[in-house]
Amino acid sequence: PRTGLHTLLASAARAYGARDALLDGDLRLSFAALHENALRFAQGLRERGIGPGDVVALLQPNSIWFPVGYHGALLAGATVSAINPTQPTEALGAALEEVGASAVVTHPACLPALRPLLDANPALLAVVVPPTATAPAPGDVGADGEGDDRITPLAELLAAEPAPATTRSPDDLAHLAFTGGTTGRSKAVRVRDRHLWANALQGLCARSAVLPQYDADGLVTLRRVPEAVTPWTPTPGEDTAVNVVPLFHAMGLVSHNIALLGGVTVVAHGRFDPREFLAQLVRHGATGLTGSPAMHHALLAAADAGCYDLRAVRLVNSGAAPLDSPTIARMAAAYPNAAIAEGYGLTEATMALTFVTPDRDHPAPPGCVGVPLFDTELEIRDLGDPGKSLPTGETGLVFARGPQVTDGYFGRPELTAQQWADGWLSTGDIGRLDEDGRLFLSGRAKDMLIYKGYNVYPTQLEEVLAAHPAVAQVAVIGAPDPDAGEIPVAYVVPRPGADASAPELLDFVAARVAPYQRVRELHFLPSLPVSAAGKILKTELRALRAGRAD
Ligand code: ATP
Repeated sequence: PRTGLHTLLASAARAYGARDALLDGDLRLSFAALHENALRFAQGLRERGIGPGDVVALLQPNSIWFPVGYHGALLAGATVSAINPTQPTEALGAALEEVGASAVVTHPACLPALRPLLDANPALLAVVVPPTATAPAPGDVGADGEGDDRITPLAELLAAEPAPATTRSPDDLAHLAFTGGTTGRSKAVRVRDRHLWANALQGLCARSAVLPQYDADGLVTLRRVPEAVTPWTPTPGEDTAVNVVPLFHAMGLVSHNIALLGGVTVVAHGRFDPREFLAQLVRHGATGLTGSPAMHHALLAAADAGCYDLRAVRLVNSGAAPLDSPTIARMAAAYPNAAIAEGYGLTEATMALTFVTPDRDHPAPPGCVGVPLFDTELEIRDLGDPGKSLPTGETGLVFARGPQVTDGYFGRPELTAQQWADGWLSTGDIGRLDEDGRLFLSGRAKDMLIYKGYNVYPTQLEEVLAAHPAVAQVAVIGAPDPDAGEIPVAYVVPRPGADASAPELLDFVAARVAPYQRVRELHFLPSLPVSAAGKILKTELRALRAGRAD
């Protein structure tokens, strides 16, 4: 086919040309320059023997160079694998080995952890991007790599003459995408060309109310669907957004593809610093931002403490974890002209399955994560018997099928067989569909606890506690109990200056839930443990509780 992932950047370059695609410090890359740099990078890889069948690992924080390496490797016909760069040497080595990487595109800050692996594997090509937001210069590899013949500066690859993209076929492996590692060890998902392409188009249609069309060259043009436009719908080619979600996580990377197709100028934000993030938002007059709920909490705290004019923001994107209604209300106050665009999905489904149409005047009800994206089917099945589908309104395990739903983990047939059957993916999340086809999530199956035989969903208790004025952030876990089986235990980060005791908060919950749902124990913490992808790590809270009980 002439269309697919290899046409993504070409379509964006033709539509938006000289407009900024990426900003990072003083450095900017237009859509045309991003495309050209990616084509040069692709040719640089080819000249070093990397192409179809090879895996290029991307191991770096967010920067202007991340999309160059990502799209460059794809344009060379290779498979990419984005890896969390904050991991220690041993974990990095395991990830590189798991995906069979032949090249790694990295950042000078990652070199110390990577060094032993480079020494042990002389065949691994190591490309290093510039240390700061500067244009790459020959020989410039930053403090840790100077004069090191083991590593290749990005500038050397970019010196190659741009050549046409390698045409990809829909079944080619595009990304071996690691899951967030929230519930255990992260796994690499086989994301094919067609999955990434479908999810980018689905996301774009939902976000920007457009109908993509192919022209005779196989490039994409967008036609607006006026009846689907709301006051918060971004117009292609007119937005600037700051992204805080790491690009090594599915949400960051797929959102960035959607932004590229929609002509959004993305401000790359490296290490997450809430005040610096808000300063950037103001400096660039950004109209949008993307983050996980934990990141939004940090931004709200910084916005409370500082004096930022956030009136330009029209769209706040959230995903990756539950966003409770009290937080949505706080966001509406902090961003006085913005609506929330929430998406739900998982790495196993490339990224997004559902989308909440942004509407500031009618925010989604608690737990609602919107309607399925185009061509996406959701089915609710019995918790005890996943072969049995449940009628509308009943709560059970969420299954999904659609063009973005992948077909398994890389090199893990047993785990694959546990989660996929007949084209359906078991998401591991619990929820229900309403009459209008909206999905309401109660939480992850792994987080559900059983109190004296009753199912208790921590997300619902978090929603209740988050509404208390003294609560800044909350996470509820299930803890073993000799009498009840399991009991709900809450961990609360208090709001600065707020004063509420644990018994007071327990009473607050008790007044609002059924007796079996009551939180039985509550502890205060200065902060909650969060993964690199911005999700609360309940595994760590469970370990904390187990230690406390010993
Ligand atoms: P691992 O599978 O390695 O434990 P992970 O599940 O965090 O990690 P991801 O693919 O990053 O891996 O996350 C997908 C999960 O995130 C979903 O199954 C769901 O539980 C949660 N999630 C994503 N978006 C939302 C949302 N909008 N609301 C609630 N939960 C969400």
